[in-house]
Amino acid sequence: MIEPLSLQPLPEAAEALRADVRRFLDEALAGMSADRRARSWLGFDAEFSRALGARGWIGLALPREYGGGGRDAFARFVLVEELLARGAPVSAHWIAERQSAPMILRYGTEAQKRFFVPAVCRGELFFAIGMSEPQAGSDLASVRTRATPTASGWRLKGQKIWTTNADHSHYMIALVRTSGAPEDRQRGLSQLLIDLKTPGITIRPIEDLTGDRHFSEVFFDDVDLPHEALVGSEGSGWEQVTAELAFERSGPERIYSSMVLLETWLAFLRDSKSDDPAALALAGRILVHKATLRSMSVAVTAKAGAGGSPMTEASLVKDLGTELEQSTPIAIADAIATAQASSSGKASEKAGDAETEVPAELLRTLAYITQFAPTFSLRGGTREVLRGLIARGLGLR
Ligand SMILES: Cc1cc2nc3c(=O)[nH]c(=O)nc-3n(C[C@H](O)[C@H](O)[C@H](O)COP(=O)(O)OP(=O)(O)OC[C@H]3O[C@@H](n4cnc5c(N)ncnc54)[C@H](O)[C@@H]3O)c2cc1C
Repeated sequence: MIEPLSLQPLPEAAEALRADVRRFLDEALAGMSADRRARSWLGFDAEFSRALGARGWIGLALPREYGGGGRDAFARFVLVEELLARGAPVSAHWIAERQSAPMILRYGTEAQKRFFVPAVCRGELFFAIGMSEPQAGSDLASVRTRATPTASGWRLKGQKIWTTNADHSHYMIALVRTSGAPEDRQRGLSQLLIDLKTPGITIRPIEDLTGDRHFSEVFFDDVDLPHEALVGSEGSGWEQVTAELAFERSGPERIYSSMVLLETWLAFLRDSKSDDPAALALAGRILVHKATLRSMSVAVTAKAGAGGSPMTEASLVKDLGTELEQSTPIAIADAIATAQASSSGKASEKAGDAETEVPAELLRTLAYITQFAPTFSLRGGTREVLRGLIARGLGLR
């Protein structure tokens, strides 16, 4: 396995966790194929999440008072890095731990904190993100789903789309309009905690290019919600959702999506005793690039852990990370094809030299990442949107 690319050392106390996590993953992931592990934070496995929760590894950096581990952001970085690099199926609890629980802790009532956060940390309560709508993706302020006040709370009407794990999650935190008109943009928006079992909600999974069904359309037809569904203040949804996006974008997810593919390809090079200089140079280029991105990601973690809101920096890491992650499957496919063409040429010149067979598991992993990689620059904010944020952060627009 690739050792931590440690241009940027982490505190010893955080590093001390790494060996334990690796031991646990050696056992938990034994026998899981690389193409399955390549799904990682889209790999839904409720039992795996509960096993992590039982070890105190969900909500590691959340307060102990609410069931968290009370550790710092660096300890969480080590844990998350190991889970992602190994391709652990973490999707069930990922959103809840990364952004929903921190959001509730920041804006929720005491009752909401006590009800939701400990269950998230136990790996028993999963959340979905209800931001995008058919006409509101990059332009999130134009959401049209509307919650109208009623005597008992709110009546919800509208639609969300691309909602990851909606069909497996217990709750959604949705950005909705509670007053004014769509033209009012950021004003009049609020966030609601929606129990996805409430009558009037229809969830229709969408199949992606790879055949997986990890996201859904969610329809709300006059869904009645209690007053307590409101999280934070009415009308403050825009400010809150901006904070939620900072939680969503500041982790190391955006540099490890193709890590299982990289590891599987490197294992093939080792096993086949490849001395192909082009393949070795490519491996070196990818690793150096990843090491630099990792240092930047650690720096973002340090800033966020110290109470900052490094939105520009996190956007930069996501944008550069996405660039590398999208180019990785193409470069690896080219390297494999070139090596195969040259080895089949040599084999036909020299009878007796066998062509090196590329393992089916590597090819399946490559096919999956190649088909899935276009989403890297869409999910969590598109490339163009992030570049706009970076330009604004640098004072250029
Ligand atoms: C795998 C995956 C999981 C997702 N999970 C969730 C989820 O759980 N919850 C959720 O709410 N959403 C989710 N999304 C949706 C995602 O957030 C949106 O797809 C994304 O915000 C883009 O919105 P859109 O699809 O409406 O595209 P659009 O906003 O229509 O963008 C289309 C293209 O136009 C470009 N563009 C748009 N506006 C501008 C501009 N002003 N300047 C320059 N270019 C622009 C975009 O960059 C993009 O290339 C997920 C998406 C994917 C791919």
